[in-house]
Amino acid sequence: VAPQNTSAPRVPPTTNPALAYTNRTPAKYTPKDFIFGKVIGEGSFGTVYLAKDIHTGKEHAIKVCDKRHIIKEKKTEYVTREKEVLNMLAGAKHSFVRLYCTFQDIDRLYFVLSYAKNGELLPYINKVGSFDIECTKFYSAEILRGLEYLHGLGIIHRDLKPENILLDEKMHVLITDFGCTKILKEPEVPLNENETHVRERKNSFVGTAQYLSPEILTDRNASRSSDLWAFGCIIYQMVAGLPPFRARNDYMIFQKIQKLDYEVPDGFSEMAKSLVEQLLVLDPTQRLGAQDEHGAGYPSIRAHPFFEGVDFETLHEQTPPPIY
Ligand code: ATP
Repeated sequence: VAPQNTSAPRVPPTTNPALAYTNRTPAKYTPKDFIFGKVIGEGSFGTVYLAKDIHTGKEHAIKVCDKRHIIKEKKTEYVTREKEVLNMLAGAKHSFVRLYCTFQDIDRLYFVLSYAKNGELLPYINKVGSFDIECTKFYSAEILRGLEYLHGLGIIHRDLKPENILLDEKMHVLITDFGCTKILKEPEVPLNENETHVRERKNSFVGTAQYLSPEILTDRNASRSSDLWAFGCIIYQMVAGLPPFRARNDYMIFQKIQKLDYEVPDGFSEMAKSLVEQLLVLDPTQRLGAQDEHGAGYPSIRAHPFFEGVDFETLHEQTPPPIY
């Protein structure tokens, strides 16, 4: 049942809408500060509604999670992590879904997020079957820039896939779904001179079969490089229409991943193929970007000829190419 907005807000509106959220602590927002509209989607832990802030008139996506369900499914850690990472990303000017505020009532948790009006990237890929090179370049460049920012903060996404790439009203990328993320508390300690992935003591199996990197399957070690593998899978999917590793069931997908068993269809751009081949490398330390200095972005990926002519710094101000 959608939370109802039946009475006046408890907190008077601020005069400056830009301060509407920051002004409200500790007198926090409540469901009554929003008019709840249609359901945008259902996740494992809650329902996402389109909602309008009655003070600012701004549209938001509000994720409403049932507390009992979270506890029953033992997903408290997932929800806590998601909030923690969204807070860490509050300073990002683009690339990510933004968390405006959170509040709760006796039964539910509410996450007030920016509304990605154009939904997920996946249906666009499915609809056109294959992105042209301009589109692939633009969207992969925006994803890369998001990854650079995320990794710069020591956050590994671990579930990067076209369903988790949302699109705002202008068709710019907003990366979302941070429940599976791993936050590197300490700088990554190289295991040997060439190895840069982190060994985790208590490691859970997270991610989506088709985008899982081989090292997660073998020793469950996720690193920044695991996201670079998923990034390679997404670029492949934008060009070919389907992810590179496909099979009847997850087990068979895992077999293919570990054997690097994928095919590049006819007509696949040579430049895109070269980039994908340098990202889909079994050894995580040998993927393009894996040796780049931490916190300095991925200059070696940006420098790949596939991205020739892309101005990474102004991507968010550019008009995205139409998707055909
Ligand atoms: P899971 O909970 O298993 O990770 P999920 O990521 O799909 O699955 P949610 O994050 O709850 O779960 O999202 C549910 C649906 O709502 C998805 O289809 C997602 O695309 C959509 N959605 C989530 N956040 C937003 C947003 N900020 N703007 C627009 N749509 C959103």
